[in-house]
Amino acid sequence: MKRIALLGATGSIGRQALEVVAAHPDLALCALASATSPLDELAAAHEVQEVQVGGDLVELLERAEPDLVLNAVVGFAGVPGTLWALDSGVDLALANKESLVAAGELALAAWSRGGARLLPVDSEHSAVFQCLEGRARDSVHSLVLTASGGPFRGRTREQLEHVSVDDALAHPTWSMGPKNTVDSATLANKGLELIEAHYLFGLPYEAIEIVVEPTSTVHGVVRFRDGAALAHVGFPDMRVPISYALTYPERRPTPVPPLDLVGLTLAFDPPDVDTFPLLSVAREAGERGGTYPCAFNAANEVAVTAFLAGRLPFLAIAELVARALGEVDGAPARDFEDLVAADAAARRAAEGALQPA
Ligand code: NDP
Ligand code: MG
Repeated sequence: MKRIALLGATGSIGRQALEVVAAHPDLALCALASATSPLDELAAAHEVQEVQVGGDLVELLERAEPDLVLNAVVGFAGVPGTLWALDSGVDLALANKESLVAAGELALAAWSRGGARLLPVDSEHSAVFQCLEGRARDSVHSLVLTASGGPFRGRTREQLEHVSVDDALAHPTWSMGPKNTVDSATLANKGLELIEAHYLFGLPYEAIEIVVEPTSTVHGVVRFRDGAALAHVGFPDMRVPISYALTYPERRPTPVPPLDLVGLTLAFDPPDVDTFPLLSVAREAGERGGTYPCAFNAANEVAVTAFLAGRLPFLAIAELVARALGEVDGAPARDFEDLVAADAAARRAAEGALQPA
């Protein structure tokens, strides 16, 4: 029996994970966490002992003693759960991309101390992870992460001046929580994923390319030094990477139908970084290193929250993030306290730049 602690049980990933766990008698939930949503019904339905709404996720994890943590919390709030699992040598199925982006080197150090598995749930990273399995790292030439392009693919900046929150939340291929959906519309999501891939797979930024593939059928590609490239393809359905991470190294059945290639048309384009500058801003933050990625994430969280609340126009999200990054020092974090301080400084810079609506 594999005992799983599910952090973020009430979200988009969390609900799909509950479905995956329920399909396998040898998977059990030992803990559930949310921020504010009640968990009583889920706890009763899935017979979970340890539940926690809000509060310190590390305390919950220490009480629950899981075999695996599925971190499906959204935002920087996911960092303590990620660091706890990595440091404690407990397998981590990681959906919360923000924690690897923000914690970066600290997370890698904890991972090497703890020595357990880090199984990516983000679909592109799960794809690359699967293409890399069993291959020597020095045989890899480069990675390609695909982007759907989001709901505003093909639009000009002028056409984006007055887009609404509902427009940004209408994602063409993936059904996700609001933060991730807005990040997909600005391409900040792909920026976060670029930094996530850098830390997960230990490759320099110049060896990680982003291309737009509007159907979200090709999730990731690994190019090898012999000229071969392996791609991972499939329907855009998060139950596949969730199931893979929870049942690794097996490949259990899911309700997702087999891919039919007939009638499928694939086209790949470079991302439009003039219209969606956050991808370039993220790449630059990643390359500068230190706590710049943490600051990128923090400023982006503030900007997305403001956009969702109607306090910031869509195009101002990127401007706010770039401005906040110009105001922080990006000094490397020696410990979690430093990281919390860097996160807070970037939030203050972003909030200071917010104009009243
Ligand atoms: P949602 O907004 O749908 O869900 C977020 C979950 O996190 C909720 O259960 C929420 O609880 C919980 N949560 C937030 N803050 C805390 C906290 N401080 N303590 C405990 N729980 C907390 O997000 P998604 O499911 O879409 O995304 C989750 C993560 O997975 C994100 O990092 C996202 O980038 C990543 N991801 C998501 C994908 C998707 O398809 N959805 C795809 C790839 C990655 P409450 O209900 O109380 O607010
Ligand atoms: Mg993704």
